[in-house]
Amino acid sequence: MLLRAVAIALAFTTGLVAQANPSWTEPFPPHCVAGNLYYVGSKGLATFLITSPEGHILINSNLESSVPLIRSSVEKLGFSFSDVKILLISHAHWDHCAGSALVKQLTGAKYMVMDADVAEIEAGGKGDFQYNSPGSLYKPTKVDRVLHDGDTVKLGGSVLTARLTPGHTKGCTTWTMKVTDAGKPYNVVIMGSPNVNAGYKLVDNALYPRIAEDYATMFRVLQSLPCDIFLGAHGDYYGMEAKFARMKDGMKAGMKEGGTNPFIDREGYKRYVAEKEQSFRTELQRQSAAK
Ligand SMILES: [Zn+2]
Repeated sequence: MLLRAVAIALAFTTGLVAQANPSWTEPFPPHCVAGNLYYVGSKGLATFLITSPEGHILINSNLESSVPLIRSSVEKLGFSFSDVKILLISHAHWDHCAGSALVKQLTGAKYMVMDADVAEIEAGGKGDFQYNSPGSLYKPTKVDRVLHDGDTVKLGGSVLTARLTPGHTKGCTTWTMKVTDAGKPYNVVIMGSPNVNAGYKLVDNALYPRIAEDYATMFRVLQSLPCDIFLGAHGDYYGMEAKFARMKDGMKAGMKEGGTNPFIDREGYKRYVAEKEQSFRTELQRQSAAK
C-alpha cells in the first residue's frame, strides 16, 4: 500500500499528471489572430497556422491524439491540412511535439527544429534533462532542417524568425514574424516558454549546467523583441480565452474594422515577461540559499 502510494506520488512529480490536464484535449474554436495567422490548437495547447498561396506553416503538433483536432480546425477555417509544408515547434516537450511524426506522415511537411532540441526530438524525448517518465516520451521524429538562433523560415511571402530562448528546454524557441492586418503591419511574438517547471534544478544541475545562465539569456532576448501581438505555446500565457471572447463580441457588434484587435497587447507582453523573470529570480535565490 505504502509502495503504491510512493509510486503514485512519483508519477505525479514526473509530469504524468500534467499530461492528463483536461484543457489540453478540449476543443477550442479555430480563429484568425491577425492577417494570415490563425489559431488551430485546443483550449490548453496552442497551435498556429500561417497560410499562404504556396502552402502553410504549422507551429506545434501537440499530443499525438491532438492531430485530428488540429486537422479539423484547419479544415473548418477553409484550408487543406495536406497543404501544410513546414512544421515547427515551441520546444521539445511532448505537449508541443508528440504529434509531429503523425503530422509529417499525413502532410509530408518538412520538420524544422532548433539545434539544441534536435537530439531529444530524434530520440523521442529521451535525454531530456528533466522528464524521463514513459508519459513524456513520444515517437522519435526525424528533423529535416536544423535551425540556429536567428535563422528564418520562409514560405509564400511569410517570414518567421527562430529566436533561441533557452532554459525551459535547451533549444526552446520563440518565433517572431510580421503580419499585415487591415493594411497595417504588426510584430508578432510566439513565446516558447518562460516557465521554471516544478522540480527544475537551477543550481548544480549536472544534466544542464548552464540552465540559470540560459534562463537569464532568454529573458534578455524576450525583452529585446518588439511585440505588438503577444502569443505563446499555451493560450494561458497570453490570456487567449478572454481575448478570443472580446474578439467575438467585437465581431458580433460589427466592430471588426474600426475596433482594436484584442490580440494586440504590447503592455501585456512586457508585464508577462517581467512577471516570469521575477518568478525565475525568486526561485534561483531560493535554490541558491538552500544549497
Ligand atoms: Zn514545456
